[in-house]
Amino acid sequence: MKIMITGGAGFIGSSLIRNFLSSTDHSVVNLDKLTYAGNLDSLANVEQTGRYFFENVDICDAFRVEQALKTHTPDILIHLAAESHVDRSIEGPEEFIKTNIFGTFNLIEQSRKYHNSLTSAKKKAFRFHHISTDEVYGDLVGENDFFVEDSPYAPSSPYSASKASSDHLVRAWGRTYSLPVIITNCSNNYGPYQFPEKLIPHVILSALRGKRLPIYGNGLQVRDWLFVDDHAKALIKVVAEGAIGETYNIGGHNEKSNIEVVEMICELLEELAPDKPHGISNYRELIEFVKDRPGHDARYAIDASKIHRDLGRIPEETFETGLLKTI
Ligand code: NAD
Repeated sequence: MKIMITGGAGFIGSSLIRNFLSSTDHSVVNLDKLTYAGNLDSLANVEQTGRYFFENVDICDAFRVEQALKTHTPDILIHLAAESHVDRSIEGPEEFIKTNIFGTFNLIEQSRKYHNSLTSAKKKAFRFHHISTDEVYGDLVGENDFFVEDSPYAPSSPYSASKASSDHLVRAWGRTYSLPVIITNCSNNYGPYQFPEKLIPHVILSALRGKRLPIYGNGLQVRDWLFVDDHAKALIKVVAEGAIGETYNIGGHNEKSNIEVVEMICELLEELAPDKPHGISNYRELIEFVKDRPGHDARYAIDASKIHRDLGRIPEETFETGLLKTI
C-alpha cells in the first residue's frame, strides 16, 4: 500500500515512518510543512529504502493538498500534522486554531473529494486515520478513574480544545459523508527525536548542561507515558485491522507524576553520565519548582482495554527500558 502521513517530520510521525518502512513493504509519502517542530534529520536513513517520498506542504493549503493526493494516490491517509505544545498554545493560540482545526478541515475535505474520485476497490480500502490525544477528555479526578473511548470531551487548554474540534470534524465527515474514518487518542509519548521543549528531552538536556530542571507547581501532575515506537506499532496495527468509524484509546498503563519522571531521569543520569557539569554533585539538586501552568490538568490515564481486546496490542517497552533508550 501507499500510506500518506501528515506531520511525518515530527516526533511521532517520524517514528511511524521508520516503523512502517522497517516492518512492512508499504511505501510512505510524508506531507509536512516543516515548522520549528519538523526535522528531516529524524528520517535520515529512510530514503535508502526507495519507498519514501517527501512533500513540503502546509495542510491549510487546499490546492497543494489536492495536488499531493492526485499525484500520490494514497491507499490510506494518517493525519498527525499539528501544533502540539500546550505552553505554546497558551502563549499564542492562533496557529493551533489554523493548523489543528482549519488544517484538519481542509485535509478531510480534500480527502472526501479524493475518496469520491476513486475506483470502487480502492474506495472501499481507503481510510482517513486521525491521530489525537487523551487531553481532549480533560483531567481525571478519582484515583481509579480512566479515560475510555466514550468519555465526555472536556478540553482545558487551547491545544486540547483545538484537537477536540478536529476530532469532532473527523467524526462528522464519517457520519455525514460516509468517509471511512478512524480516530485514535493516545496518552503522552516519549522517546528519541522529540523536540526538546517537551518535559523528558528538556530535562535530559538541561541536566547534562548543568541547567535548572523546572517543574510546574508541586510536580504531582500524573501522565500515562507511552514509548513512541509502541504508539507507532499500535497505529500500524490499527491501519491493518481497525474498524471504520471506531475510536481506539492507546496508552501505556504507566502512570507517573512529573516529579517521579524527573527523579528517574536524574537517577539514570547518575549511572550513564557520572561526569557531571562543574559545580554539580548530584543531578537532583538541579530540580526547581516553578509557577504552575494555567489550567494545568491534574491527571490523565487511559483505559486501553479496547485496543488490547480488539487488536491485541500491548506496549512492549517498560518505562525504565524506554527511558534508557531515550537518554
Ligand atoms: P510534533 O510537534 O513533534 O510534530 C508535528 C509535525 O507536524 C511537525 O513535523 C510539523 O512540521 C508538522 N506540521 C505542523 N503544522 C503543519 C501544517 N500546517 N502542515 C503540515 N505539517 C505541519 O508533534 P508530535 O508530538 O509528533 O504529535 C503528532 C500528533 O500526535 C499530533 O496530532 C498530536 O496532537 C498527537 N499526539 C501527540 C502526543 C505526544 O505525546 N506527543 C500524544 C497524543 C497525541
